[in-house]
Amino acid sequence: MLIEEGLRIDFSDVLFKPMRSTLRSRSEVQLIRKMKFRHSPATWEGVPIMAANMDTTGTFAIARKFMQYRMITTIHKHYTLDDWKAFLADIDTAQAAEYVVPSMGTSDQDIQRIRELFALFPRFKFLCIDVANGYSEFFSGFVRRIRQEFPEIILIAGNVVSGDMTQELILSGADIVKVGIGPGSACTTRIQTGVGMSQLSAIIDCANVAHGLDGQVIGDGGCTCPGDVAKAFGGGADFVMIGGMFAGHDESGGEMIEEVHQTSQMETDDNGTVIGPMYETRRYKMFYGMSSKKANEKYAGGLKDYRSSEGREVKIPYRGPIEATIIDLTGGLRSACTYVGARTIKDLPKCTTFVRVTTQYNTMYE
Ligand code: 5GP
Repeated sequence: MLIEEGLRIDFSDVLFKPMRSTLRSRSEVQLIRKMKFRHSPATWEGVPIMAANMDTTGTFAIARKFMQYRMITTIHKHYTLDDWKAFLADIDTAQAAEYVVPSMGTSDQDIQRIRELFALFPRFKFLCIDVANGYSEFFSGFVRRIRQEFPEIILIAGNVVSGDMTQELILSGADIVKVGIGPGSACTTRIQTGVGMSQLSAIIDCANVAHGLDGQVIGDGGCTCPGDVAKAFGGGADFVMIGGMFAGHDESGGEMIEEVHQTSQMETDDNGTVIGPMYETRRYKMFYGMSSKKANEKYAGGLKDYRSSEGREVKIPYRGPIEATIIDLTGGLRSACTYVGARTIKDLPKCTTFVRVTTQYNTMYE
């Protein structure tokens, strides 16, 4: 048994130290990044924020909106070929190639589905191979196989949380490594298994290795607010993938629920006589992890007896159209860049000094 003593940090353990800068306004900050890749000959340009490939956030409705902002949606793997046909018939396919990313697991069924999908739409630039635990030898072999079959594709593979596996996946053919085990808002892996890694440290470690090999990383999971997304970029993430912050909107998946709640106000008649308490209707949308009991029941006919659920189901207050959240997020990012003097997201790590803190923000009104 070994114990690693080094301090590992999460987003909540640090803040950016403000730095002098010549930037005068947040409108001067450029969120678009241009990228080249280690294996794929393709180039890509866009805002490096991704909606997670969960069936509540990797939806066609979110993709339609995100494309307009040049942001990526990794589409969940449970749409049928007919769903894809209808979607592709209805959008600008040049944009879809850039900002819509199909995802797959590692089963034979996944391979079959992806082959059919690429036959339908060969212009996809990206492909995301996503497993909960990217540490198996089988997984790097699988990445090698997919790289051989799709030599031009910008290949995303994960999830891992350490430099050694980042290196292994890049050398096996991944262009971009997805980083994060256990930080997700709907994830219970750390409770169920005790396994994980502080997400900001994981990003820093994996990015250092990936960048030395001309690879990239995605910081996947654990962002609770725009400041966390900025910290992920500041730590070296090339892309940030988000689930919970994009849940609960019109464009998100998940059932809508209405509940009637008693308020503290009283209803009166025309004479001012109290009739009784006033009620209000609150709206929620369901959000759940892709290894939750709910997702297993929906797609795998229930939890197998050798598996436990590693995701939770939560009720999120309904948040309206996703556009407001996109604007809030990109506004926060621009502002973070302005505080530290980064003209582009790419410049953010070199302008970043994190200070360790014991308190992140004032909770007086929470
Ligand atoms: P969030 O932005 O909600 O904090 O994190 C989103 C990420 O959580 C996803 O991209 C995915 O990596 C991870 N995730 C989604 N569903 C589950 C689950 O059921 N269990 C675990 N362990 N992680 C999940």
